[in-house]
Amino acid sequence: MEFGLSSEQQMIVDTVRSFVENEIYPHEAEVERTGEVRPELGEEIKQKCLDLGFYAANMPEEVGGGGLNHLDFTLLERELGRASMALGVYFGRPSGILLACEGEQREKYLLPAVRGEKIDCLAMTEPDAGSDLRGMKCAARQDGEDWIINGTKHFISHANIADFAIVFIATGEEETARGTKKKITAFLVDRGTPGFEILPGYKSVSHRGYQNCILTFDECRVPGSQILGEVHRGFEIANEWLYGTRLTVAANCVGRARRVFDLALGYAAERKQFGLKIGRFQGVSFKLADMITDIDAADWLTLAAAWRLDQALPANREIASAKLNASEMLARLTDEAIQIYGGMGLMNDLPLERFWRDARVERIWDGTSEIQRHIISRELLRPLGC
Ligand SMILES: Cc1cc2nc3c(=O)[nH]c(=O)nc-3n(C[C@H](O)[C@H](O)[C@H](O)COP(=O)(O)OP(=O)(O)OC[C@H]3O[C@@H](n4cnc5c(N)ncnc54)[C@H](O)[C@@H]3O)c2cc1C
Repeated sequence: MEFGLSSEQQMIVDTVRSFVENEIYPHEAEVERTGEVRPELGEEIKQKCLDLGFYAANMPEEVGGGGLNHLDFTLLERELGRASMALGVYFGRPSGILLACEGEQREKYLLPAVRGEKIDCLAMTEPDAGSDLRGMKCAARQDGEDWIINGTKHFISHANIADFAIVFIATGEEETARGTKKKITAFLVDRGTPGFEILPGYKSVSHRGYQNCILTFDECRVPGSQILGEVHRGFEIANEWLYGTRLTVAANCVGRARRVFDLALGYAAERKQFGLKIGRFQGVSFKLADMITDIDAADWLTLAAAWRLDQALPANREIASAKLNASEMLARLTDEAIQIYGGMGLMNDLPLERFWRDARVERIWDGTSEIQRHIISRELLRPLGC
């Protein structure tokens, strides 16, 4: 067992940390104030990431990506998590599911996504189907070689800047032990396809400037060649890659937690009340002790889950535990950091109230905390026939 970072891993951490501090932190206040990212700023961050050679670091070298394994990519995501998500999205990480592209799809979607020429978004959630994705209503019917899609997706992250969407759509039904469930197929749908619209979504308290959108399909005709993977097998390919996005959430939470912790630690060591630095009061210093213990535990759980993926070991439960633990840890930690700052912690002169708001969504997206507990408990009980 080896707990230290290799020199390559240390280089990844240092490079991304320095990028985040120099290229992203200076623009965060503007994004918070305006609720959006100026397109030229987004383009500038993307270009700098390309120049650095870190664009598509998650994709294999054979397709032009950085070829990082899960553990190294998790270290990268941990550093990126320190920064505004609205700006960090331009530090491109195309969806790993695009590796299922075949034939012409590789030239049209996968390779341009890796080169930063096209941006993808991934659409599963619907107004009536969130956790219960196999209850989705968005459906496609076959018409000769084509498929005709009708329905609505919502909460789709950064679809406002996407050139195409990877959309999960019901293409049939099957009887299962738990009732009738939809068969799901993944489609690649280009912005501008007749009948497909990308509309502004809701205003979220978390991650200002990181837009979520509504996608509508009205008799939208898509050729069969736009199917990613096989008909009715969309979930199989999705499940393979969704591991990665949950690990990303966990890593982002750990990185952001360390940024918040450093602020709280610094303040406790400076702020004086009753003639003493507040860090001298156990009511404050014990909070710091609990906070760093919480962060370290979440960090190791996340890195160990990534390591298991690299070893091709079963990691479903471990990744769910990492996501559950890190997102809940960040919520506790941002709350305690505000407590250490007192009233000033709530003011938007400081980024703490932002981190507190941003933490809220981490327990919801990419599977809620309840769904993570469901995955973990199912893995424990199913082998016992329960
Ligand atoms: C800002 C934002 C961005 C997002 N980006 C994307 C995106 O890019 N693409 C995408 O496809 N989706 C995206 N999502 C959707 C996100 O993944 C869903 O919000 C999430 O899966 C939960 O679905 P829901 O909101 O419909 O809640 P619901 O599924 O309706 O859940 C409501 C409550 O019921 C609980 N619950 C539901 N089922 C169970 C159960 N079996 N056991 C116990 N409790 C249960 C949930 O835990 C939750 O507390 C995004 C969401 C947000 C908020």
